[in-house]
Amino acid sequence: MSWLQASLPVRQGGLGLREAVRMSSSAFIGSCNSVRSLCSPLLPTTPLLEESVPNSNYSSPDFSVFPGESTAKDHIRSLAPDSLDTIDLTSSSQRDLQRLLDTKLSTTILENASLRDRARLDTISAPHAGAWLRAIPNPNLSLAMPQREFIIAVCKWLGIAFFPPPPSSKRCSCGQVLDSYGDHLLGCGEGNWRNRRHNALADIVFEALLSDNANCHREQRLCGDSNARPGDVYHPDFERGRPTYFDIRVRNFL
Ligand SMILES: [Zn+2]
Repeated sequence: MSWLQASLPVRQGGLGLREAVRMSSSAFIGSCNSVRSLCSPLLPTTPLLEESVPNSNYSSPDFSVFPGESTAKDHIRSLAPDSLDTIDLTSSSQRDLQRLLDTKLSTTILENASLRDRARLDTISAPHAGAWLRAIPNPNLSLAMPQREFIIAVCKWLGIAFFPPPPSSKRCSCGQVLDSYGDHLLGCGEGNWRNRRHNALADIVFEALLSDNANCHREQRLCGDSNARPGDVYHPDFERGRPTYFDIRVRNFL
């Protein structure tokens, strides 16, 4: 299932590593549809040189169906048999066809997923969840991930186990046996890692807002003697001159 998921676009929880077999027919049909109307005016309906076609059995080219097109359409029908009511195979673009197949594949993966995997897939399909996969890995902008971290992140993204299963399981510093997917580590309170992760994210938001306004603050207190901190980051005029507090929450999909 992980390979199939990886072939989906990032916005649908994949890695954008397209599967050539699944793409080939939509690419071919899309190409046929895009050039069909251009071919007829370019090629003659009668032979240019009568003498070059002796006993002329010449018939005008038929561009309504290209060679191989029927087979490609059958392939698409086999991949998404119950989704073709919404699309016209004789005029659709490659993008529309691919989107149809992606949606079908995504639905199939979701239908066959365990409850845990459904929660994971729902989370990674959220808007901007795949931004880390689209970012240019630039160390100068703190956008580069060490290889080890990237591998673990991809495993979490695709639902691949990266710790050994029992009985050779490792233990967390809190004493609990680690599950193969590292789920325990996301929520464990030992070692203050949850707060560190939260603060690291809040720092990133703070740095970004600071470049917009030098009067932004972290952990801004309310006026007077109050110790209350309504947000992690304060921006004095974020939108239409109104002061805004940003509170950062880290969601655990489990
Ligand atoms: Zn623990």
